[in-house]
Amino acid sequence: MTPLIRLVKLVKVYRPGLHPVTVLKGIDLEVAAGEFVAIMGPSGSGKSTLLYILGCLDRPTSGEYYLEGREVTHLSADELAAVRNTKLGIVFQSFFLLPRLTAVENVELPLLYADLPAPVRRRRALEVLELVGLADRAGHLPAELSGGEMQRVAIARALVNRPPLLLADEPTGNLDRANSHLIMGIFRELHAHQGLTLIMVTHDPEMAAYARRRLTLRDGEVVADEREGGNESLPGEEARAEPPPGPPRGGNPAACGTDG
Ligand code: ADP
Ligand code: MG
Repeated sequence: MTPLIRLVKLVKVYRPGLHPVTVLKGIDLEVAAGEFVAIMGPSGSGKSTLLYILGCLDRPTSGEYYLEGREVTHLSADELAAVRNTKLGIVFQSFFLLPRLTAVENVELPLLYADLPAPVRRRRALEVLELVGLADRAGHLPAELSGGEMQRVAIARALVNRPPLLLADEPTGNLDRANSHLIMGIFRELHAHQGLTLIMVTHDPEMAAYARRRLTLRDGEVVADEREGGNESLPGEEARAEPPPGPPRGGNPAACGTDG
């Protein structure tokens, strides 16, 4: 089966020319649909650079990146934007919510590009807010939400277009432990019950423990690639998924589906 992601000898050089710094040194990687992967490694090892390339926010200097079998490194800016809109959701350490919009309006933003009637946009935004346990905060402004709640709104916004892949760069970096575990519980739930593929950068081993596969980067190279239990699990398999800590909710199984 075609892997969701395939990287071939991916290289990223910053400032090619004067003082070139090779940040990714020929990464070869495959990620299957339905995996939950943590990318670990010391500061400066290239984690964010790799995630930005995976998120089509940056291009590699050389090498190939196949997303669902399609090579994306040579796509035009417009084509890349379309890929980002339909195939990827991305969350960051900072939440980047618009302060004057309510939670549900923030979540609706990516749908403005889709040709959907306003009531459909609202319904879909509420569905994903429900999925992250925030239906009751839909009308709140970001300033009225806790950091953990803001990150959950950002996750809902990333998922509202129903992408197959969610990327996260240090998503718990600004959160306390309780909220960090809550977010990880949501990720595990999305992975186990919605079949979402998750790739998460974290330097926190406690958070990486939620993933089923852990990659370690060092100096721009993958130096470890460990799978939970030492063997592959099938996408969507729930046999070894423990119940999430805290109360991060049984979601609406339809919300990441394909209906309109
Ligand atoms: P990590 O996320 O693992 O901390 P990064 O991918 O952010 O690492 O950075 C890897 C290396 O690339 C670091 O040495 C960083 O200073 C360098 N770097 C990152 N972005 C740029 C840039 N835009 N220009 C030059 N160097 C950069
Ligand atoms: Mg980083």
